[in-house]
Amino acid sequence: MTSSSAPPTGAYIIAKALRDLGVTVIFGIVGIPVVEIAEQAINLGIRFIGFRNEQAAGYAATAYGYLTGKPGIGNSSSNAFPMLLLAGSSETHLVTKGAFQELDAISLLTPHTKLAVRPPALESIPHLIESAYRSSWYGRPGTGFVDLPADLIQGTADSAEDIPQTAPLPPPPASGADNAKLAAIAQLLKSAKAPLIVVGKGAAYAQAESSIRALVDQTSIPFLPSPMGKGVLPDSHPANTASARSTALQHADVVLVLGARLNWIFHFGDAPKWNPAARFIQVDIEPSEIGRNGGDAALGIVGDINVVVPQLLSLLSGWSYSPTSSPYLSALAAAKRKNEDKAASAAAKATLPLTYAHAFDVIKRTLHSLSPPDNGGIVYVSEGANTMDISRSVFPVQHPRLRLDAGTYATMGVGLGYAIAAHEAYNASPTPEAVSGPKPGRKKIVALEGDSAFGFSAMEVETMARYQIDVLIFVMNNGGVYHGDSDSAEEWLERQGGSGGKGLRSTSLGWEVRYEKIAEACGGLGFFVRTPEELATATEEGFKARVPVVVNVVIESGKKGKLEFGWQASAKKAQKGK
Ligand code: ADP
Ligand code: MG
Repeated sequence: MTSSSAPPTGAYIIAKALRDLGVTVIFGIVGIPVVEIAEQAINLGIRFIGFRNEQAAGYAATAYGYLTGKPGIGNSSSNAFPMLLLAGSSETHLVTKGAFQELDAISLLTPHTKLAVRPPALESIPHLIESAYRSSWYGRPGTGFVDLPADLIQGTADSAEDIPQTAPLPPPPASGADNAKLAAIAQLLKSAKAPLIVVGKGAAYAQAESSIRALVDQTSIPFLPSPMGKGVLPDSHPANTASARSTALQHADVVLVLGARLNWIFHFGDAPKWNPAARFIQVDIEPSEIGRNGGDAALGIVGDINVVVPQLLSLLSGWSYSPTSSPYLSALAAAKRKNEDKAASAAAKATLPLTYAHAFDVIKRTLHSLSPPDNGGIVYVSEGANTMDISRSVFPVQHPRLRLDAGTYATMGVGLGYAIAAHEAYNASPTPEAVSGPKPGRKKIVALEGDSAFGFSAMEVETMARYQIDVLIFVMNNGGVYHGDSDSAEEWLERQGGSGGKGLRSTSLGWEVRYEKIAEACGGLGFFVRTPEELATATEEGFKARVPVVVNVVIESGKKGKLEFGWQASAKKAQKGK
């Protein structure tokens, strides 16, 4: 170990630069020689969460960045989440010789990061770590990457005096908009027949909830949250059009977009999903976003939501959207009623195997009885095609940054890393930045996982157990990717049969795999449930547990009712009959 007087090693210089920047947690995975950095960081008081797969560690770092508003350390460019990524590489003098794990990471990562650098010498390390950290954080957030060759990590400086120091950076400077432009936009909003505010995860990241709340409360303009923009305004807010989404898109004529991109999530701003006459006012921190797809560049505002929205609000003061009669508002109300009734009857349909809708309803009711949504005591993480899509509208989110999902790239496998990040941000070493809901105290992290999505990073249950991270994980087990496998048990077996069997469908996964045993194997709790009663009990016990819990929920697969309940029993029968 390096003491402050002895010449410092590269590993120590790296760890100290991070500590002096104010870094409190690192999400990582070690090998040689990166382990030396991790050990030095731990010695300097930084919490190190060692993952089982670097992908999950990377996901955790980005989600931590999103939740706290400061770079996470440990795939961030697609979601515009801030992350400082550090990775070891082979010795500088062995480059191109085929050294152990030699990879030109700078070339590989340059197009995907805001800055990718390799320090040429020990003395440059602190400055470059600070540059990468700042660049990941300021402007549109993204990834800053520092490549750390083995000879630097293991090298020793001539003396401690040669090594510059880092210090905490001030939060990113925030910019506003010019007044003439804003006045024109206020006028456009006032003249709209069917105005709409879209709230994206950029608004959640910016922690702009109070100004956006003031805007919506004062103007009564209907709003639509993106999947992770949910909660910036409470889902229960009367102006929320989430359950009338298609209708809102079809009618809206002036759309104020706050921290969301007009990408696939918002159908590129195009007809026929959107009203072809709709005009989009984009407010974004990133200039290159303005005018993209359906956006009207002439109306775009480059600026920080926290500055622009209050500016706009002052220009709209005294005005609200309150037409005497509005076909738009009537259509929204009718669509809301219809869709909510439809959801309620799907939730009430109590068949076995459980449906997604019924299972989620049972989970929701049980969780709400333990932690009412207004308290903001639960963080939801969700992934898996159906699991994520169906659960999104079932679980209300009343406060910002309490829902994480597969995001811009629709990346499966993020869930467990995200859950660990949420625990770190809110519970383990809570940062003052990560506050959501009226009670800043402990939050329960609930992960809703498809069986396929869970498989991407299931081993991170062990990470949770090791660090006493009590995530409550539901595995919605339909024995397949997406809608799964529509075959009956007999057909399923037949497809595997050697003679004439076609082989399994590409969407097949093992049926009734006992995923809960992963939790048991690691010191957590596992539940295998088929019925609403079993599910309610498991949810309650799982919520109260202080270890990771996997509730393995057997649900219907593909075409309803075709797969027999408990194929293993019928499979045995089928085998005997042969
Ligand atoms: P969603 O998936 O919720 O639609 P996106 O990730 O597509 O959201 O868009 C978020 C947008 O928010 C990005 O274009 C990003 O540049 C922008 N953004 C992030 N922080 C701020 C901020 N403080 N002010 C304005 N825009 C921001
Ligand atoms: Mg599945």
